[in-house]
Amino acid sequence: MGLSGNPQSEIAEETLDPQDWGALKALSHEIVDDSIAYLRDIRDRPSWRSMPAEVKAFFTSPLPRKPAGIAGIYRDVTEKLMPYPMGNNHPRFWSWYMGAGNYTGALGDFLAAIQGSNLGGGNHAAALLDQQVVSWCKEMMGFPASASGTLTTGGSEANLLALTVARNAKAGVDVRELGIAAIDKPLRFYASDQVHSCHRKAVEALGLGNRALRLIPTEKDFRIDIAALRQAIAKDRAKGFKPACLIATAGTVNSGAIDDLNALADLAAEQDLWFHVDGCVGALLAISPENAWRVAGIERAHSLAFDPHKGLHAPFEAGCVLIKDAAQHRAAFAVTPEYLESTPRGLAAGAWLHEYGLQTSRGFRALKIWLALKEQGIDKFGRLIDQAIAQGQYLSGLIEKEQRLELLVPTTINIVCFRYRPAQHLTEEALKALNTEIMLRLQEQGIATLSDTTLRGRHCLRVAVSNHRTRYSDLDLLVGELLRIGADLGP
Ligand SMILES: *Cc1c(COP(=O)(O)O)cnc(C)c1O
Repeated sequence: MGLSGNPQSEIAEETLDPQDWGALKALSHEIVDDSIAYLRDIRDRPSWRSMPAEVKAFFTSPLPRKPAGIAGIYRDVTEKLMPYPMGNNHPRFWSWYMGAGNYTGALGDFLAAIQGSNLGGGNHAAALLDQQVVSWCKEMMGFPASASGTLTTGGSEANLLALTVARNAKAGVDVRELGIAAIDKPLRFYASDQVHSCHRKAVEALGLGNRALRLIPTEKDFRIDIAALRQAIAKDRAKGFKPACLIATAGTVNSGAIDDLNALADLAAEQDLWFHVDGCVGALLAISPENAWRVAGIERAHSLAFDPHKGLHAPFEAGCVLIKDAAQHRAAFAVTPEYLESTPRGLAAGAWLHEYGLQTSRGFRALKIWLALKEQGIDKFGRLIDQAIAQGQYLSGLIEKEQRLELLVPTTINIVCFRYRPAQHLTEEALKALNTEIMLRLQEQGIATLSDTTLRGRHCLRVAVSNHRTRYSDLDLLVGELLRIGADLGP
């Protein structure tokens, strides 16, 4: 027993902090050195590689019960994890639609974790920084300072939050208190048949059901057919539904089509609908000198979702939703339990950021965005978007020049949809099999990572050039290798 009489005093107390900070410091320096080399030399590695069986087996090892040295664990990380990334940091990764990360952003994630702040809110510097990033987002998108917003895990959550505010604002009853069963007429939301799948998940999660999301046909260029939309709204009204929300897509994931935002804003105003824009692909065109005109009208949205982890290359995760009417935004999510009451001074005197979304604890994802925006300046990010679009146009040009390649839709921005088509006639099915095989070989040979999709029943390969590391020569290489593999495959 110690003098204090504390029965605990002779039991060794435990902590997660190391006993030897010096050793951890040396390892940390090694990790930083390795990380810089990893990004610096990324071009020399394959864009993707499949994992050998031993690597797959490694990730089935049992729950660790006893400690192990971090240096050894880090060695496993360098051998079993780092060589097998998704690949989106690689200059020739063009699948789906992603950002390519940036080193400063990675430092931001590290520093955020070291500082450790919880962005649920409160009176501390990280909360001010978070709100500053949201303010910058409003400014980039032409939203007024009076609007509100929040950083989210990604675009899916950003869209869900926006559609929640839209549902509550248009329900005509207190949905938070009474639930959707109390809504007088079933709500209807409208979007093009190209709308991202997260909207379906959102209307389902909101209890409206998938049928509440009316998919309107698109024109040849995959933009929403406004006459068809107008008809659908009128028909629904006549049938006793309540048209509530118009979801415009600024940059479809399939082909990059941008709905006519001004025309849709006009229609929403005329029909008294909430006007939401899903700008996960294209909203950031608003900051680009050459292409901002394509998203004219975006600032008229009642709500806007976009993705810093795409167009701003923030390391995952970082999405953002902006809501024009801050009071409606807060009214959709704010709850003040007794353990989260504000105080006049001290830590609980700051804004409660959890009142603008579904999370209570929130990560400090603002820092990685803030650092990169300060370091590079917004003008550079705007130019990178123009560069990506110019690269998309360049690839389209290369494809048009090749007899064996066929563009499936004229390229609007930085998403290029095309297929390999040999001289000999092939059925759609055979073309799909051939193009899928080409795509897989490009991946497996580590040359380039594309994805595929189907446009009006025609399968195609899809290149989304949203990568600040891509050079024009990478696109030349892609076309050369594609033709080589196509020829190897035969017909
Ligand atoms: C990527 C994307 C989403 C979903 O965003 P996540 O960040 O992946 O959750 C929604 N809509 C569009 C148009 C997208 O491209």
